[in-house]
Amino acid sequence: MIDILKGAVAASRTGSDSQEMTHAWVFTGPPGSGRSSAAVAFAQALICPNQGCGACNECQSAATGGHPDVEVIRTEGLSIKVEEIRELLTRVAWAPSMAGWRVVVMEDADRLTESAANALLKAIEEPGTRTVWLLCAPTLHDVLPTIRSRCRHLQLRTPSIEAVTQVLIRRDNISPTMADFAARVSQGHIGRAKFLATNESARSNRKVIMQLPLQLGSLAAAFQAAQTLIDLATEEASTSSESRDEKEIEKLQEAYGKGATGRGMATGAAKAVKELEKEQKSRAARMVRDSIDGALLDLATFYRDVMLVQSGAPESIINSDMRTEIESYISSSPAHTAAQKIGAIKEARMNLAMNGAPLVTCEALMCELARK
Ligand SMILES: [Zn+2]
Repeated sequence: MIDILKGAVAASRTGSDSQEMTHAWVFTGPPGSGRSSAAVAFAQALICPNQGCGACNECQSAATGGHPDVEVIRTEGLSIKVEEIRELLTRVAWAPSMAGWRVVVMEDADRLTESAANALLKAIEEPGTRTVWLLCAPTLHDVLPTIRSRCRHLQLRTPSIEAVTQVLIRRDNISPTMADFAARVSQGHIGRAKFLATNESARSNRKVIMQLPLQLGSLAAAFQAAQTLIDLATEEASTSSESRDEKEIEKLQEAYGKGATGRGMATGAAKAVKELEKEQKSRAARMVRDSIDGALLDLATFYRDVMLVQSGAPESIINSDMRTEIESYISSSPAHTAAQKIGAIKEARMNLAMNGAPLVTCEALMCELARK
């Protein structure tokens, strides 16, 4: 993959009509595989005088969003709307101001609404521009067929635990022991690993969740466990969104001129704030779901470890700090049920993905996990 990008960077410099450099790319890969980091690195290579050294002014400003020719589009909302794309297109219609290329990195191209995608398609189809589009999405199927047929595709894999550990140590200055722990329990998800390594409350929440399989002695306990899981997920989601929500509303009010007295102004602002609040609410709900999903993935690692110990491969377990708990679980439950529990977790995650009610889904799951 690196060779393809290197070839493209070299071709981008000669200015020849080489097949190697093209102006639309799709980076795909599972969550945490670093697809947006790869796209940003490619953007740096295109605008840096030293082919993407990572250290010069150009590279650094591109990474932090300060480079005039590099736009990184991040969205925390549920969708990227057509108005946003139209606005973006007028911004990037100009020739690059410093570099040879104007680069747009879109981190969540899977969230383009259909009309937004169609507006983008027109820009991608336009020949001869100096704008390069780097779209990121989980899979190719998340991108409109008309768009993906015009893009070169690069697929990233989930990085190894060892590679994630090294990134945490070198890039984020995290201690080797902590980096190893976070990389192991996050199963190759770099973002999640960094979050765990740098966030003590996330680590202690995870600890509580990992104890749940050992506390399912009765039906009442199962219902209690479901409630605990929902509470922790909600807490994790709300701590990260509250301050951001406030800032967004403040910014919006500023844009409308806070304290503006003109009648049209005031109703316009009120309407926009209402819209934003609606969007924030749906984002909060999605974050709770994401965080429940993360907790369920964590729970699955417990049963996975149970199976590994049962099959005589304890050295490969993820939760090596829970050896005693895992062994006591094995001694008190019938053999060969761990695979069924993993199946039940998978089913619960599918229900949630299809919009199942979180509490009911978790209650049903915990009752299933409690079954001997
Ligand atoms: Zn550079």
